[in-house]
Parts: sequence; structure tokens; C-alpha cells
Amino acid sequence: MTSWQGRNVTVAGLGVSGLSAARALAGLGAVVTVVDGGDGDAQRTRAAELAGTGISVRLGDAETLPEGTDLVVTSPGWKPSSPLFTAAAEAGVDVVGDVEIAWRLRGPDAAPWLAITGTNGKTTTTQMLASILAAAGLRTAAVGNIGTPIVDVVLEGDDAYDVLAVELSSYQLHWAPSLRAHSAAVLNLAPDHLDWHGSMEAYAADKGRIYEGNQVACVYNVADKATEDLVREADVEEGCRAIGFTLAAPAPSQLGVVDGILVDRAFVPDRQKQAQELAEVSDVRPPAPHNIANALAAAGLARAYGVPATAVREGLRAFRPDAHRIEHVADVDGVAYIDDSKATNTHATQASLAAYESIVWIAGGLAKGATFDELVAGAAGRLRGVVLIGADRALIREALARHAPEVPVVDLDRTDTGAMSEAVRQAARLARPGDTVLMAPACASMDMFTNYNKRGDAFAAAVRELGASA
Ligand code: ADP
Repeated sequence: MTSWQGRNVTVAGLGVSGLSAARALAGLGAVVTVVDGGDGDAQRTRAAELAGTGISVRLGDAETLPEGTDLVVTSPGWKPSSPLFTAAAEAGVDVVGDVEIAWRLRGPDAAPWLAITGTNGKTTTTQMLASILAAAGLRTAAVGNIGTPIVDVVLEGDDAYDVLAVELSSYQLHWAPSLRAHSAAVLNLAPDHLDWHGSMEAYAADKGRIYEGNQVACVYNVADKATEDLVREADVEEGCRAIGFTLAAPAPSQLGVVDGILVDRAFVPDRQKQAQELAEVSDVRPPAPHNIANALAAAGLARAYGVPATAVREGLRAFRPDAHRIEHVADVDGVAYIDDSKATNTHATQASLAAYESIVWIAGGLAKGATFDELVAGAAGRLRGVVLIGADRALIREALARHAPEVPVVDLDRTDTGAMSEAVRQAARLARPGDTVLMAPACASMDMFTNYNKRGDAFAAAVRELGASA
């Protein structure tokens, strides 16, 4: 373990992870300065919280490296091209993230990490994994890019957990060079956050770091070749296996699906001849194809850790997805209303559109540079109608005109707080009994809402209004 006594550490960013790293390192004797480019009320309030801790705060300058810095600890939002990091590189000073700090703070007997990344499905899969591990009687938690900062979890001590389910973002992986997971999974790879990483290659390379040094298994998505390529490129421990997951029947060293049963053909004594039943498709909630894939990935990691098949079934049954992820809000007049507000990119929306037969789709918001042709062309046959909301709705309307010209489209030219109510009323008008009204916007929410949670809440409230007046 590194000694932190007297080390001069600069923490970039006064956010949740920055504050947690600053407190942890100051507690271990480091001399910590937190820098932040902002100098408004929010930053001043946060800075005031650090009064009396011995941590210095420098506001209004995110660019220059404080004199004498030995190490820079960055927060996820800061781009690698930030001037502070250029200054650090010029001074020969390392830049790392909170995950790297957490990894370095672990003691020799600390709980191993089962790590998960991917463009979509990270949170769901990490929570499924934690649920399976808990069902096996292990002391565990879903940590990392979810809720509790990982540094805080590690500081609880080596004895606090048996094993951790760790969600890692591409940003966190970028800044975590010495991380070595017990086993890891990359769920899928689609273009996202390219403004931060600079290119698809750089994004993929950062995701691929999760496999570096794996001890037991590198779990990849058979349907997404890019994830398998990352396994091949990784430098792993001797004996570490590549384990695929697939929605089809599994080949040896894979987990897959046979006649509605999730089966393991990887962690069995004779994988040429044997397969172990893990659970039924109906044990997975919601049983949409992409979510079955998430369950198989979680099961792969759990099995790599030695968890029995019965715990996979129990853990999946006990799992409840977080809000706004394909959440069934209500049935009104024979129509199901589904909130997938978390579908903030086209890859996620594609997965939820694939899960229903006849859909009235509510979409739109901030496109973040995305294009919609492929998404719309793939779903055209299942669309009963579309209601468009938000700033970049014209992009989706144009894609619909090109690939689904027959589908009725309501284009709502309003972004006020009542817009979602009207969108839901219009969707109800288009829907027929047996249809699904699916709010999976393929866009970020910040043009109309504070975040995707608020957008989902507005949808649910509008559906309840509809139910009350039905
Ligand atoms: P993340 O933590 O990666 O953002 P979540 O589990 O919160 O992932 O899910 C984000 C969105 O992606 C949701 O809209 C969900 O329906 C969708 N999604 C979940 N799993 C997958 C998957 N394996 N492939 C594609 N989309 C997915």
C-alpha cells in the first residue's frame, strides 16, 4: 500500500467523488488541495464544508497546477485534454481517478472486485450481480459508478465485504491504470461520450482496460464482436478464461439460453458434454432480450466467483430494477405505459423498442450529436405512432419521414412543464388495446427536465392523470 503521509495531492473537482477522495487522502496524512474552475455559490458552500479538515480549496482556477503537487486525482467529468492535466504531464506528475485511489487503498486481504462496464446496462447488471452474490450468502455491495463513492467503501476496511460488484464508467477506467479485477465484463460497445474520449477507438480502449490483469474470467458479449476483441487484446493472468454470453444456445465456455432456460456451459466439470440450468427467462425482470443478456453477464461473473446455480436463480428473482428503466407504470384502457426515461441514447432505445410488438413511441430531447436513421429503420414495423418532444425532435421526425413514412407522428412544439402530459394524451389517442406506450426518448432530458428521473416522474404523473380521467 502506498504511504500517503505528507504527499501533496491536488484533487480536480469539488463534486461527490472529488470530496470523497480529498477527505480520504487527507485522513491518511496527505496534504490536499481541491481545485475547481467554478467560483459560485455551489462551490463556496461545498468549500465551506471542508473548513477545519485541513484541506485547502482553490476556486476559479481549473488550469494551473498548484506548486509542489505530487499527484493529481481527477473527477470523472474532466476531459483528458484539460489544461490542468497538460500541466501535470509537463511536470511529470501522474493523473489518476477515484477508482485508482480506491484500488491503491485496498489492503492485502481486501474483497476482490467483479467489475462491469459497457455502453448500456451497467447499473442493472451490477445490481443483478450484487443480488446473486447476496443470495449466495456473501457480504457484498453494488458500488463504483453507482451511489456510494468507491473510496468510501474501501475505507470501511478489508473485513467489511467478501466480494464487491463494481460498476465502472469509461471515464473511471481511463484513469485507473493499476486496477486488476478478479473477473470483469464488457456488456456492449456503441458510440457514446465520444466528445470526452476523442474517438471510438479511444473509448473502446478505455473500456477494454477493465480486462487487464483479470484472474479468473473475462466475460464478453458474443453478439458484440468488439467486446470479444477487447478480451483478445487484454493482458490477463495465466489461466484466466474468456467466457461469452449469448441469447442463443451456448457453445462450450459460454452462458446462453435454451428453450426459455438460462444455462451455463462454462463453469461445469465437462463443458463439451454438460450444461447447468441456472434460471428461467421469466425469473428476469423485465424479461426483455437485452435484460436477459444483462442477467447472463451477471451470472457469468457470479459463476466465475464460484457461486452455485441456485443462488443465480434466487438472486435474479429477488432483483428489482431501478426506477425509469423499462418500468411498467400502469395499464389504462388495455394499453401498457412503460417509462424508459433512462434510455438517453439510441443504443438503449433500440433495446427497448425491440422488446414490444406494437408501440406508440414517445421520443426526443437533446440528441448529443446522435443520428436516428438506423434506430427508426429497425423499429418501423412495430410503430403504431410516434409523439415527439424536446429540442432536437426534428432529427427524429426527418428519420421517420425517410424510413417510416406511413407511421402517424405528432410533433409537439412545446417544452414547458405541461408538455409531457400532452405527449401522454396524444399517445393514448394513437394507441389501441394491446399496444404499449413506450417513453424511451433516445435523447438526454436537460432541454426540458433537470434529469432523466424528473422526465420519468413527469411521464408517470401524466399516465396517472390519464388513468384518473379514463
Ligand atoms: P447504465 O448504467 O449503463 O446507464 P442502465 O442499467 O442504467 O445502464 O440502463 C440504461 C438504459 O439502457 C436503460 O434505458 C435500459 O433499458 C437500457 N439497457 C439496459 N441494458 C441494456 C443492454 N444490455 N443493451 C442495450 N440497452 C440496455
